[in-house]
Amino acid sequence: MKPVAFDYERPGSLDEATRLLAEGGSMAKAVAGSQSLGPMLNLRLAQPDLLVDITAISELRTVTERPDLIEIGACVTHADIEDGRIPDATRGLLAFVAGHIAYRAVRNRGTVGGSLAHADPAADWVSAFPLLGAEVVTQSSRGARTIPAETLMVSSFVTGLEHDELIRAVRLPRLSARARWGYVRFNHKAGEFPHAIGGIIHDPENGRFRAVLGAIESAPIVVADAAILFGGPYDRDIEKRLDERAVLDLLDARGVQDDYNRRLTLVALRRAAAQASRA
Ligand SMILES: Cc1cc2nc3c(=O)[nH]c(=O)nc-3n(C[C@H](O)[C@H](O)[C@H](O)COP(=O)(O)OP(=O)(O)OC[C@H]3O[C@@H](n4cnc5c(N)ncnc54)[C@H](O)[C@@H]3O)c2cc1C
Repeated sequence: MKPVAFDYERPGSLDEATRLLAEGGSMAKAVAGSQSLGPMLNLRLAQPDLLVDITAISELRTVTERPDLIEIGACVTHADIEDGRIPDATRGLLAFVAGHIAYRAVRNRGTVGGSLAHADPAADWVSAFPLLGAEVVTQSSRGARTIPAETLMVSSFVTGLEHDELIRAVRLPRLSARARWGYVRFNHKAGEFPHAIGGIIHDPENGRFRAVLGAIESAPIVVADAAILFGGPYDRDIEKRLDERAVLDLLDARGVQDDYNRRLTLVALRRAAAQASRA
């Protein structure tokens, strides 16, 4: 199938893009890498009157470094991160995640903002940014908002973004030199979306010990105090201390019933803990 006919604009500024989206109402849509929207247009699952291509807006590709955080523009691609064009503020976690997304052709065009806005529960940044405690900065003609990454996604393919609101950037707290992380995703074939994600970070400099359970067909489960999953604070043996019942209770609470998916998620988290211990 082919897309319905639509108008196309490629503004050079954020102000122009948000104005076009506001004027276009619910029939206007932003497009970035087009790796998800493109197939949806072809299948006519999306039938916009106007596409606003945001990839010429230089502000959406900028990277700002501060002592405590790094802010990356929404149109930074997975390949930009994989290839190290973005400074490493997370001791390699960002590049590791980026390098496992889909395959290279998708990574060359797919963007972090597009991935978060699309809110596919199996997408990697949807789990990895909340794991890191990131914030999402948005922009609309009404002004800017800062939203914790873990609350941006409401449910499968649904976010709290307004129809004319763009993701401008993602703010990531830096991991200290003593921080450790583990991120494990299971997919059957190379290039596929994961069927389960488990992630851990521990940063002794600020006491952060977080975990994520992702690709669970809804927003990921983010555990701000991962000690509850391991019967106590982080140490090198956490892999052996994983409290399976505590993890399964969290999955129960989210309605994750499928036994295979539950076991896969559990194993992903255990392996993430092992990866963090070995780091
Ligand atoms: C074969 C294949 C395999 C894939 N495998 C994986 C995988 O393993 N892991 C993974 O994480 N991802 C995977 N993806 C998804 C891909 O990585 C992209 O991240 C994703 O397609 C969205 O990014 P995009 O820039 O292409 O967004 P687009 O397709 O351009 O847009 C997607 C949606 O986001 C909106 N949007 C785009 N940018 C913004 C913005 N800045 N603000 C607000 N709204 C915005 C659009 O309006 C649209 O609704 C895969 C994709 C394909 C085609």
